[in-house]
Amino acid sequence: MAVRLEELVEERQGQTSLFDRYGRRIHYLRVSLIDQCNLRCVYCMPVRGNHFTPKGDWLTPEEIETIVRAAVAVGFDKVRLTGGEPTLRPDLIEIVERLAGIEGIRTLAMTTNGLLLPKLARPLKRAGLTRVNIHLDTVNRDSLSRLMLYNRFEKVWAGILAAEEADLTPIKLNAVVLRGYNDDDVADLAALTLERPWHVRFIEAMPLGPQATVALERFVSNVETKARIEERFGPLEPAFGGRLVGEARMYRIPGAAGLIGFISPVSEPYCDSCNRLRLTADGKMRLCLLTDHELDFRRALREEGEEALKALFARAVRAKPVGHQLRSGVYPLVRSMSQIGG
Ligand code: SAM
Ligand code: SF4
Repeated sequence: MAVRLEELVEERQGQTSLFDRYGRRIHYLRVSLIDQCNLRCVYCMPVRGNHFTPKGDWLTPEEIETIVRAAVAVGFDKVRLTGGEPTLRPDLIEIVERLAGIEGIRTLAMTTNGLLLPKLARPLKRAGLTRVNIHLDTVNRDSLSRLMLYNRFEKVWAGILAAEEADLTPIKLNAVVLRGYNDDDVADLAALTLERPWHVRFIEAMPLGPQATVALERFVSNVETKARIEERFGPLEPAFGGRLVGEARMYRIPGAAGLIGFISPVSEPYCDSCNRLRLTADGKMRLCLLTDHELDFRRALREEGEEALKALFARAVRAKPVGHQLRSGVYPLVRSMSQIGG
């Protein structure tokens, strides 16, 4: 069914906003720049047999800018670059510069494994990036190399410090917890917040694509992760009144400088407050992380021109599912997390 943009757009105090059928304001666009990665985290992508998008099929920097401009025109104000590993994109700085120049973007952030930040943190800041989320599953060297294949603690640590020095702050660290890999290490990771003003966020593993079985068989709920942290530090204090901040519930070890977050898409789904769409490196707009429904923005842009994009955003928002169905055992098979961006 064709949807007219006007049906979904509301003008309030001169500001345009796009609402979906369930009344959710959709204003956060995650943009995957590349599906390749220099690591192979076991819950994310297989070691072998990956089929990467050929470079010629990547959205170009101009196309990314055009799509993001159209998004901003219909009310998006937050953009996150992701991957695969976004820092592997040779034209990353140009992309950040182009997006930073778009009026109306409040936050331009990036999610990265941090390995290339010692070289890139300052140029990224200069180009206009606001902040980074860095992926660190554990501070235990052995668990780290089993879980995030090819990673070394010292390398990612250097990346975190480089981001902090470049003022890409607040530093947010993301950790996925898997049984038998890093579930014993969560309190050590949480301890980083004692002295540092960092946010350490624990993410429940989600079953997707070829690695779905790992996430299902090794799943650890955040109820357990929080209990393990409290065993060491005593009851955590709720921050922000215990409300969801984005997708995380935030806490603090009493007296600590930083915060601890729990992102619990499986045990405590937050679909009711979902505000995002996801653009893949090959130009498909994914309507929900955990369902396979996509719209082809690259084809629309190349065949119909940029005028088609605003209406396509309206269609995407209109078709956004109410939520995922993990509890009914339904999960997406077509793409791995590295092909979507988290
Ligand atoms: N390579 C970058 C990184 O690792 O941060 C960006 C892409 S990665 C797909 C984005 C986020 O997705 C990371 O924080 C990663 O831990 C998370 N992730 C990957 N696979 C996941 C899964 N199966 N369940 C939950 N989170 C996952
Ligand atoms: Fe690479 Fe990020 Fe996936 Fe790890 S989680 S394999 S770093 S894309």
